Amino acid sequence: MGETELTDERELVVAVRPHRRQRGRCGVCGRRSPGYDAGDGRRRWRALDLGSTPTHLEAEAPRVACKAHGVVVAQVPWADQGARFTRSFDDQVAWLAVECSQTAVSELMRIAWRSVGSVLTRVSRRLEQGQDRLAGLHRIGIDEISWRRGQRYLIVVVDHDSDRLVWAAPGRDEATLERFFEQLGEGRCRQITYVSADAASWISNVVRRRCPNAVRCLDAYHTVAWATEALDEVRRAVWNEARRGNRRGQAVALKGARWALWKNGDNLSPSQRGKLAWVQRVNKPLYQAYLIKEHMRLLFQLPFDDAIDLLIEWLQWAFDSPLEPIVRLACQIADHLDELLNTLRHNLSNARVEGLNTRIRLIARRAFGFHSAEALIALAMLALGAFQPSLPGRQAAAIG
Ligand SMILES: [Zn+2]
Repeated sequence: MGETELTDERELVVAVRPHRRQRGRCGVCGRRSPGYDAGDGRRRWRALDLGSTPTHLEAEAPRVACKAHGVVVAQVPWADQGARFTRSFDDQVAWLAVECSQTAVSELMRIAWRSVGSVLTRVSRRLEQGQDRLAGLHRIGIDEISWRRGQRYLIVVVDHDSDRLVWAAPGRDEATLERFFEQLGEGRCRQITYVSADAASWISNVVRRRCPNAVRCLDAYHTVAWATEALDEVRRAVWNEARRGNRRGQAVALKGARWALWKNGDNLSPSQRGKLAWVQRVNKPLYQAYLIKEHMRLLFQLPFDDAIDLLIEWLQWAFDSPLEPIVRLACQIADHLDELLNTLRHNLSNARVEGLNTRIRLIARRAFGFHSAEALIALAMLALGAFQPSLPGRQAAAIG
């Protein structure tokens, strides 16, 4: 530590230099290397505030000539290579980004949400150094989530046993998913026993090729989503009919009932329950579509034998429906009956899987301001992966 100075802008600047043992190391690999030149003079790194005073570290930034990496700025022990913030600052930003709202992070740390993105990428990379997040995978779920308008997608892979996010990449195609299995390697692909996914053919093609021993299952989350889409098609048709027939009051009420219809039937508020009762009274077809959706959801909560009984009844009911979207839904389910039966037979706690799905989608929405898939993936990994950030100076969170 050297001298300290309070600048005119009421900022604290602390002049520092690395310990002798830490000097003259390559900024990329850390190998001791001969000095090259003094670089561009002194540099500043934003550090954690001292009380309420913004604080910076300042030091020389000489360059060294590494055998492997050529002429690079020498390593400093308080910051990652190329970072404008200290490591403690980065760690605190990452921890806050996982725990708090976007505004809280920006306000408290006095940085734009956009720069939070590059901090997250850096911290996530550091936490995962030398770690293997694909170790010990047996039962996985593959999902696609849209994260920005204009058809931007991520493929995410979750571990059903630990309930963690293990892999994500931008894209929604066979080539991108192949990269996951390449990283996993042939031996570990053979240890995959169970893969759940939606029915997209690009997923099942790759899984069939790569995991010959895996049972393929239909993801409960997506199956219920299909039923919700069919229900919504019926709702829109009924609504348009009411509008055209000049039944304005009914059209408005139908619009107001859409949350009650979409929502998980166990979690309805009293007013939503009232809206549903109204739908039941005045609109039989819409209510039938609602029951079809709710029973699809129930299917994943029952013990296997009961679920099979319900499934048989459900299929008959849906195929006999006068509503075209419901019949189409029944066909869709019938087309994927094997995978659906596998899901019911190997029932994992779907509530948890659905929970993870929902959390990934919430993070995707929060990461909207990042403008880069890399930052979104970093935030998702830090929040839902196995290596989560801890506050500077505290012990890393042990996550089993
Ligand atoms: Zn090097």
